[in-house]
Amino acid sequence: MVKYDRFPGGKRYALTFSYDDGGAQDRRLVELFNKYGMKCTFNVMSSSLKNENGKGIKFNEVKSLYEGHEIAVHTVNHLHLERMSPTDQYTEIFEDKKVLESACGDIVRGMAYPFGTYNSDTLNVMDVCGIVYGRTNVPTNSFLLPENFKIWNPTCHHNECEPMVKRFEYNATKAPWRAGGVLYIWGHSYELDNDDAPTNWERFEAILERLSALKDNVWYATNIEIYDYTQALKSLRRSADGTTLYNPTDTLVCISNNDEPVDIPPMTKVRINL
Ligand SMILES: [Zn+2]
Repeated sequence: MVKYDRFPGGKRYALTFSYDDGGAQDRRLVELFNKYGMKCTFNVMSSSLKNENGKGIKFNEVKSLYEGHEIAVHTVNHLHLERMSPTDQYTEIFEDKKVLESACGDIVRGMAYPFGTYNSDTLNVMDVCGIVYGRTNVPTNSFLLPENFKIWNPTCHHNECEPMVKRFEYNATKAPWRAGGVLYIWGHSYELDNDDAPTNWERFEAILERLSALKDNVWYATNIEIYDYTQALKSLRRSADGTTLYNPTDTLVCISNNDEPVDIPPMTKVRINL
């Protein structure tokens, strides 16, 4: 039986993080993610990059600080998009994308909604702007990926992640019958400065340490890497008898055949015995 149930390396689980607002504490957070080899998507509002006197992240710092991670749109001014005209939403999204791209030198294709909110105009404007996914603030408390990536609900906020981390550890190491999936944690780095919060810096690092022990079973990826991988899987072509698969994309994909991982390299035809 062929299943599309793998990530790169034949892994059945992935882990991703999404942090908003680009505050000064991102510097400490990036260090932590780098220490444990994990990947995060940082959602940055470009108006904050222009504040030369504040402690926040500066425009010229973006490229080196977030190296190896993903930068994504969080709009220019962090307003409620659903209360704006489509034209103003366009300006908020597209101008942010432009500034972030000139800061990081890459093509920015993702987004987290300010306050987690949007309307149907937002989804149309994203198409015009080349933004392929949008993250909300609604927790799924599951490891499921969305059918529509423009409404990408995360697993949980970091303050409520403890039970989900525990379940993820169990599923990834002790429960091969479980379906696999993605642990998606979001938050704001400045929240970790709050000693009274359920998750402060020390507790967060302890969680990363636990998750780093799963590296043989878990793919650490940015949001856009997970999006692109999922699209590549969906693009696979398969013969009627099921034995020939062709990967027309530039992304190596991995599937399972009778529970064994099978790599299908980019632009390559692979034959399998069912
Ligand atoms: Zn925000």
